[in-house]
Amino acid sequence: MNIHEYQGKEILRSYGVKVPNGHVAYTVDEAVEAAKKLGSSVTVVKAQIHAGGRGKAGGVKVAKNIDEVRTYAEEILGKVLVTHQTGPEGKEVKRLLIEEGCDIKKEYYVGVVLDRASSRVVMMASEEGGTEIEEVAAKSPEKIFKEVIDPAVGLLPFQARRLAFHINIPDELINKAVKFMTGLYTTFVEKDCSIAEINPLVTTGDGEVMALDAKLNFDDNALFRQKDVLDYRDLEEEDEKEIQASKYDLSYVALDGNIGCMVNGAGLAMSTMDIIKHYGGNPANFLDVGGSATAEKVTEAFKIILSDPHVKGIFVNIFGGIMKCDVIAEGVVEATKQIGLEIPLVVRLEGTNVDRGKEILHESGLNIVPADSMADGAQKIVSLVK
Ligand code: ADP
Ligand code: MG
Repeated sequence: MNIHEYQGKEILRSYGVKVPNGHVAYTVDEAVEAAKKLGSSVTVVKAQIHAGGRGKAGGVKVAKNIDEVRTYAEEILGKVLVTHQTGPEGKEVKRLLIEEGCDIKKEYYVGVVLDRASSRVVMMASEEGGTEIEEVAAKSPEKIFKEVIDPAVGLLPFQARRLAFHINIPDELINKAVKFMTGLYTTFVEKDCSIAEINPLVTTGDGEVMALDAKLNFDDNALFRQKDVLDYRDLEEEDEKEIQASKYDLSYVALDGNIGCMVNGAGLAMSTMDIIKHYGGNPANFLDVGGSATAEKVTEAFKIILSDPHVKGIFVNIFGGIMKCDVIAEGVVEATKQIGLEIPLVVRLEGTNVDRGKEILHESGLNIVPADSMADGAQKIVSLVK
């Protein structure tokens, strides 16, 4: 789960990580009020969307007085921001962060992630703040420093100091940087983050070390024990189809291709996407209906796939182990009748009750293309959508 920058900063503040003062605003008037309350000589108006790259897209503006705050708030609220992280359709700005302007001396990067290769939490830091870290990693990887953290003892002070020295934090601010990094690491662990990225971390004219941006993502599997984090969820930022899918306990991830996939089991779903790609097609989604799908669930899954206007064909690829093929077939027929499917549908069934399943599809008289294997099915759907 993803949250907004201002929410991330609230959490970080509670862990002793320094962030500028600021308030969230949903309207222009609230933005002006917030700026008056801050009373700072410079105020920054920041678009709050679940994506980075806002600065370059015109979503971060520095205002020198209240009138400018109003002008920028009017300009940014309601605007569709297109950044490298939003995709070409962009994201509409519905909230602003009105924040104290900060006297930046230098911008740095610091991030905490889980490194699956070493099975450890890793803190990364770089002197190249502000820019995208992916770009730094590609062009000058030697400028990124890493500390692998032992979970038994956590981030040790010497590791934080080493990072701070590597990225050339001025000597007199090393201790503040260590406190910052320790707070960031503790946030990551205690809040079950999957990523905690500060870009930029800045040193300021008055000798502070603070977070000017905050990107916190959370492990969905841990949300059951992070009620306060869950309260930060902003459904308007999430894909409508993904919200619908979560209601029916379907694992759905929207992608940008045109072949809708309905599969049972995450591994099979992954390999189905692979094989579609292999035959020159592009999956429109990842969808795992799970092991215990009912006809109702399958119908819902179909509706979700079809609500994506880019979908030009559907590939159902089911291995009936726990799940029975006849149940899937009934669901497919039911959904097809309810929705009035107008695009090609290829179905590959294998496993428990497969013959009964095939019969049901056949007897339905619907225009369903059967496939004998995964490769056969993938080839068929790819050629049908072309
Ligand atoms: P994004 O990463 O989405 O572009 P950031 O929050 O990193 O958004 O802001 C972009 C840039 O705007 C920062 O690198 C920084 O230079 C400037 N900026 C952001 N917040 C402030 C602030 N409170 N005071 C001064 N400058 C800021
Ligand atoms: Mg940033």
